[in-house]
Amino acid sequence: MQLLSFDRLEPWQVPTAAYVHIPFCRRRCYYCDFPISVVGDRPPLSRRQAQAEQEFGTIAEYVEMLCREIAMVQADEPLETVFFGGGTPSLLTVEQLEKILSTLDQHIGITRQAEISIEIDPGTFDRSRLQGYKAAGVNRVSLGVQAFQSELLAACGRTHTLDDIETAVEWIHQVGITNFSIDLISGLPHLTLENWQDSLQRAIAFAPTHVSVYDLTVEPGTAFDRWYKAGTAPLPTDELTAQMYRIAQATLTCVGYEHYEISNYAKPGYQCRHNRVYWENRSYYGFGMAAASYVNGQRFTRPRKRREYYEWVQALQQRQGAIDCPVVSLDEQLLDTLMLGLRLADGLAIDPLVVRFGKDTIQQVLDCLQLYLQQGWVELLDQTGQPIEFTRQSENPSGELPEIDRIRLSDPEGFLFSNVVLTALFEQRT
Ligand code: SF4
Repeated sequence: MQLLSFDRLEPWQVPTAAYVHIPFCRRRCYYCDFPISVVGDRPPLSRRQAQAEQEFGTIAEYVEMLCREIAMVQADEPLETVFFGGGTPSLLTVEQLEKILSTLDQHIGITRQAEISIEIDPGTFDRSRLQGYKAAGVNRVSLGVQAFQSELLAACGRTHTLDDIETAVEWIHQVGITNFSIDLISGLPHLTLENWQDSLQRAIAFAPTHVSVYDLTVEPGTAFDRWYKAGTAPLPTDELTAQMYRIAQATLTCVGYEHYEISNYAKPGYQCRHNRVYWENRSYYGFGMAAASYVNGQRFTRPRKRREYYEWVQALQQRQGAIDCPVVSLDEQLLDTLMLGLRLADGLAIDPLVVRFGKDTIQQVLDCLQLYLQQGWVELLDQTGQPIEFTRQSENPSGELPEIDRIRLSDPEGFLFSNVVLTALFEQRT
C-alpha cells in the first residue's frame, strides 16, 4: 500500500481501529438507504433449510472477499478497536466471524484489551451464536431495538417483534456480555411523546451500558420518502422531534448516562471507543462493500454494489493493495475536525487546533461562531471548565487568543441546533 511521506506520524495518523461492513439484511426497513443485499425474510419452516444454504453461500463468498481485502494491509500498529456494522452482522455464523477476526489478527494484529463490537438485530441470532461470538472475542454488542411498540416496528418495516427484543436482551445477559448498547429512533411516523417516554423507560429497564438515540431522517429513494413528507403527519413535526431530543437527554442523564456525543449516552467508562476514533478525526481502516477508510491521509469509500466490490478487491490485488485517491487537504482536515469534534460533549481542545491549523485560522473559526456563542449554543471554556467571554479579532488589537481551553456545543440546545452551527462553519470554510 502506498505510504505518505509524513516526516513523523502523529498518533491520529496511525490507524488502530477497523470497521468491517456486513451488508446483508433479512429485508429492507422502510427508512433505510444503506448499501445492503436483502437475503430474505423468515421463511416458513419447510423452506428454511434451502434458504439457509443459499444465504450461507452468499455471505460466505462475501466473507472470502473481505478477508482477501484485509490480507493486503501493511499495518504499523495492532488494532485497539474492531466494529462489525451493517447491514445485519448477526447474520454471520460464528465460523464466519472467527474467520474475519483471525484474518484481522494475522495481518494487522488485535491487542488483548481491544474493544470488539458487533451490531446485532433481535430475531437474527440465538443464544449459542451469541455465546460463539463472545468466545471469538466480541466484548460489546449494539442491539438495534429502534422502538418498543409493535405497531411502530411494523410501520417502519423492522422484522423483529417485542418478544424478540426481550429474548435478545435475556441472551445478552445470560452469555455475560456486560457492555451492550440499545439503539432507538426518534421521529418515527405515528410516534407520540408518550410512546417515546415509554421506549426510553423500557430501554433503561434492560440496564444497557450505552444508549444511542438517532433522529429519523427521511432519505431520498426510501419507502418513507415515497410515502411521507418530512415534518408532516404521520411524521412528527420538527417541534415534536426537538421535544423528543430534550426528553431523551433529561431522562437518560437523570439515571446516570453521560451524554457524551450528540446521539450517544453511556454509563461512566462505557463510551464507544471505536466511534470516538471517528469523532476525534483519527485514522481508521474500513473493510467491505461501501466501507469508508481514512488511512495514509486518504479518505476512501469502497464500491456500494457487491459485484463491483468484488471486482475492486481483485483489482486491488493486482495493484498490490495501493489505493489511488487524493490526500485530504489541510482545509478539509480542519473542517472534518470541527464537524466531527463538535459532536462530542468534550468538544475540541484549542491548543492542538492552533498548532495544526494556525492561530489566524482558529481566530476566524471563533469569529464565525460569535453569533452562536451569544445564543448559548456554543460555549468557550477555560482550563477549569468555566465559561469565558470571547472577543472578535477586529476588537482584539493584541491579536492574542484569550485563554480558551476548549470549545463545545451546549447540551441540549447546542446539540439540537448543531446543523445550524456546523452549516455556518462549512460555509465559512468553503
Ligand atoms: S436492519 Fe439496519 S441496515 Fe438493515 S435494512 Fe434495517 S435499517 Fe437498514
